[in-house]
Amino acid sequence: MTAVTRGSIEVRGILKRFGAVTALDHVDLVLPSGSFFSLLGPSGCGKTTLMRIIAGLERADAGTVLADGQDITRLPPERRPFNMVFQRYALFPHLTVADNVAFGLTTDRRSRPPRDEIRRRVSEMLDLVGLSGLEARYPSQMSGGQQQRVAVARALVRRPTALLLDEPMSALDRNVRHQVREELLRIHGELGTTFVLVTHDQDEALSISDTVGLMRDGQLEQVADPETLYHRPATLFAARFVGAGSFLDGHAVSDEPGGAVVDLGGIRFRASTSMPLAGRPVHVLLRPEDLSLTASGEGRLDGVVESSSFYGSYHELTVRTAQGVLRLRQPTATAHGSEVAVTWPEHAGIAYPATGHDRSDDLVVD
Ligand code: ATP
Repeated sequence: MTAVTRGSIEVRGILKRFGAVTALDHVDLVLPSGSFFSLLGPSGCGKTTLMRIIAGLERADAGTVLADGQDITRLPPERRPFNMVFQRYALFPHLTVADNVAFGLTTDRRSRPPRDEIRRRVSEMLDLVGLSGLEARYPSQMSGGQQQRVAVARALVRRPTALLLDEPMSALDRNVRHQVREELLRIHGELGTTFVLVTHDQDEALSISDTVGLMRDGQLEQVADPETLYHRPATLFAARFVGAGSFLDGHAVSDEPGGAVVDLGGIRFRASTSMPLAGRPVHVLLRPEDLSLTASGEGRLDGVVESSSFYGSYHELTVRTAQGVLRLRQPTATAHGSEVAVTWPEHAGIAYPATGHDRSDDLVVD
């Protein structure tokens, strides 16, 4: 199999309106060849619309789409060097697995390869997705995970420079989703084709991609590698959408290089931030893994354990303090009602300016 060296995608100034709704508001994005990029964001933020515009299934009101530097904005989907995998496999029920995969090669008579080559490429693709030996089955005789792998094989058989995956795992149950995720990572590693995944599942985006584009209201809020997105969310929205966390309200007393001294009802600590905050009210993000329990009176904030839930590898505690509720992950359970203190290292918290009109109600913190 020849490794793909093309596959860069660029969108410039993409605007898309549906009536009064602005689905995409001048989006710019550059995806280098071979990247595994996830578009992440809440329902309705424009992820699918952006992917459909890249695929050519939707036309933008303004802006340009480039593939390897070539303007493809006006090309129909079948003439773009991409292929798409949908949420619901979209396999032909009356065709065998082999014929479903071969379909991608036989639609255009002019470019239809000879029969032997079709057979060879189908077999190569089924081998790649781990389905060798199942050529003669029909989709109804396969599990959801297997059907989705057939859909991936069908999309890859034409050797696209980029594979566009629209929530391909959302119809699968949790364990199967995990397997398909691993398969996609392996296939991506083997082929080097650019993969673009639309998902609203942050675990999926963080675990599978090298770059994540977090979208909000038709715009890209932050484009970063998963670790940066998790450890250094650029905005309060990104901090709330990605990963679990607690938020405490405080006040920035002074700025320091890379951080600020924050006052929370009399206790002071250093938080990280990339902007000057002195004198402003702030929200401070604290990740559960950065918090630990100590004896009452010996930590930063005293509190009472409100709940303790077992999640297999850890117990999640909620502790009510005078400054708000904190969530922690601990190796052992702590009884409901215990008086404790919560502490965290200097600079573990991340401070964001409190704007006074934060839309907390449409944000996920779990
Ligand atoms: P989800 O995760 O729910 O699929 P999304 O982030 O993919 O959401 P889009 O499907 O791109 O969001 O939709 C963006 C906005 O555009 C939404 O407000 C949606 O209602 C609207 N929209 C999308 N397609 C159409 C359409 N064909 N006609 C009218 N409005 C549309």
